Formats: sequence, C-alpha cells, structure tokens
Amino acid sequence: MSLNIRKKRAAAAAQAVGVDALLVTHLPDVRWLCGFTGSSAALVLPCATTTGSRTAKRALLFTDGRYIAQAKAEAQGMQVVIATKPPLTEACEWVAAARIERCGFDATQTTVAALDTMRKAVPGKLRRSLFVAVGPLVARLRQVKDAAEIAQMRAAASLGCSLFHRILTFMQPGMTETAVAAELEHAARLAGAEGMSFDTIVAGGVRSTLPHGHATQAKLPRRGFVTLDFGVVLDGYCSDMTRTVHMGRASADERDAYDAVLDAQQAGLAAVRAGAIVGDVDEAARAVLRRAGLDKWFTHSTGHGVGLEIHEGPRLAAKRTEKLESGMIVTIEPGVYMPGRFGVRIEDTVLVTRAGCEILTPSPKAWIEL
Ligand code: ZN
Ligand code: ZN
Repeated sequence: MSLNIRKKRAAAAAQAVGVDALLVTHLPDVRWLCGFTGSSAALVLPCATTTGSRTAKRALLFTDGRYIAQAKAEAQGMQVVIATKPPLTEACEWVAAARIERCGFDATQTTVAALDTMRKAVPGKLRRSLFVAVGPLVARLRQVKDAAEIAQMRAAASLGCSLFHRILTFMQPGMTETAVAAELEHAARLAGAEGMSFDTIVAGGVRSTLPHGHATQAKLPRRGFVTLDFGVVLDGYCSDMTRTVHMGRASADERDAYDAVLDAQQAGLAAVRAGAIVGDVDEAARAVLRRAGLDKWFTHSTGHGVGLEIHEGPRLAAKRTEKLESGMIVTIEPGVYMPGRFGVRIEDTVLVTRAGCEILTPSPKAWIEL
C-alpha cells in the first residue's frame, strides 16, 4: 500500500466522522502516513470535502529546525513546514487560517496540555468549535498491515526466534537475569536491530510470577522456570515473543501448569481467523485454563496487536466484540502466575489470514529443560 493510499484512507475515515481535516500528532501515526521518523511532528491532513481531489498533495507536516534534512529525506507526499514556534502551535494556526471548520484530533493520544496549546493557537471565537475529538482513526487503519509491513514484521519476528535459540545455549543457573538480557540485546543490535520493543523480560524462579518481570540482578535458579519475553525493532516494526524454559528438574505441578498454558495457547491460535471475534479468541484460551483449574491465575488478556507500536489494537480480551481481519498481526499469550510459586507464559505473534493464522514466531514450544 503506498503512502498515498494510506493518506486517502485516513482522509476518508476522517470525512466519515464529519470533520474537514485531521490533526495527527501521535508519532507512529505520522510515520505510517508519511514515513517521517522524527520526534517532533504535527501533521494536518485535509479531507476531500475541503480540498477536492487534491487531498494527498495538500497534507502538511510541521516539524522543527532539528529535522530539516531528515524531514526532506523521509517525509513523502507532504508539504514540510519547519516551524519557528512549537510545530503543534503552527499547525493549528495553519488550520485556522485555512478556514477549516472542524478539525479532528485523536482524543486517546492528546493530552489536556496539548489541547490547551491547540486552542490557544487559534482565534478566540474558534476555540470551542474548531477541534473535534475523534477516535484513533489512523491507529485503527494501522491494525491491518500491508505487504511491505508484513515483510518487515516477518523479518523482526524471525530475528527474535534466532535470538531465542542463541540465548538457550548461553543461560546457566547462577547467572543474573541482566546478564541474560544483555547477551540477548547485544546479539540483537549486532544483527541490525534499532532497539528492543520494550525492556527485556527475564524472570527466573519466583520472579516468573511477575507477568512483567523486567530483568534484575536476581540469579537464575538451579531449579525453576525462567520466562523470557522480548522483541526487537527492525525498520520501526516490533517483534514480540515469550518462551518459558525450566532450569533443572521440574515438579509435576510445574509440568502440568506448563502443559495447560501450552494447550491454552494452541487453543487461542486455533481460534484465530479473519472474522473471529476477539473476545471469542480470548475465551478459547481461557476455557482451557478454566478446565485445568488455573484460570484464576491468568490475570491478563490473551493478546494484542503489534506493529509500529509494541501494543496496538486490537486487544484480544474477554467480552470484546471487535472482529479480526486478514492482515492484522496479533499476539496469543496466555499465562498463569501463582504468587509465591511460579509462573509460565507462552507467546507467539501471528498474522491473521482468511483460513486461520500464520505463526511468525515458530520457535519450539515443547518443554525445554536446561
Ligand atoms: Zn511479549
Ligand atoms: Zn505481547
């Protein structure tokens, strides 16, 4: 999908909710619309109602002096304006001067302070009427990936898998969690990752009961689980996977919990296909843990979208009614966390297809004892 098509879709979505232009400030949305990766940006996308067929040409990107060369190199299909005031202020002044009557903004990404800046930038009589809170229109479009994005996500996920294989040969009891994270992240960087999708989770022993147990100086246990949850960023796109391995001999309870989580994860994967309701996918995984008597320890949702952001829509959570669509990329990651004892999570990132899903993180999930 060319950037021009993305802009047209965003303009159409804005028009459908009754605004004449869209003000985009959430940086992943800006990047998706025009390719600009700088940290200072306000994009104005006028809709067809105000600009006729010239929509695509008239989009403006406001940034600041640090990004003159970068905006020129990266931003496609945009008139770039190097602002001398804060870019948001200048973008709003332009909107008012262009006689746009209703300018949509993403209420889920706009702070109270930013809205105040927006209103102060326009004449008093427009302050109440000009800016209209609309939902995350661009983020909603970003949920369905095009061929180029799928290729990027595939590359990121496959790098994640190779890092997992590598780290298995490195991990030893008594090593700190941070040493494991450092080794993994160092290898990721050497392989070309721009960074990690989030702070690497290495949670050993009783710390495996923390769903977000970022690596600490705690030592890997002689006997017990270690949860590894990590992702790399390649060309802006995030990967995300979790594997839980066992150091030393496991108890029967640990084995049973692992098998139940793996069954739940497989059931979640089996429920994924275009048209499936996200709440049903969550329930497919949750029901398996319920039958095993472990559902009370499954304290988060089953999955989330991934892309330019590590957590995007859709959320695969209980009772939610959105439908999966072909081209969405989501995680399936049930887990159980028994306070004071141990935790297990298994996570894959998958591409939703018409018939089901394609697993982008096909690292083995069979029991691993190190
Ligand atoms: Zn994860
Ligand atoms: Zn995840």
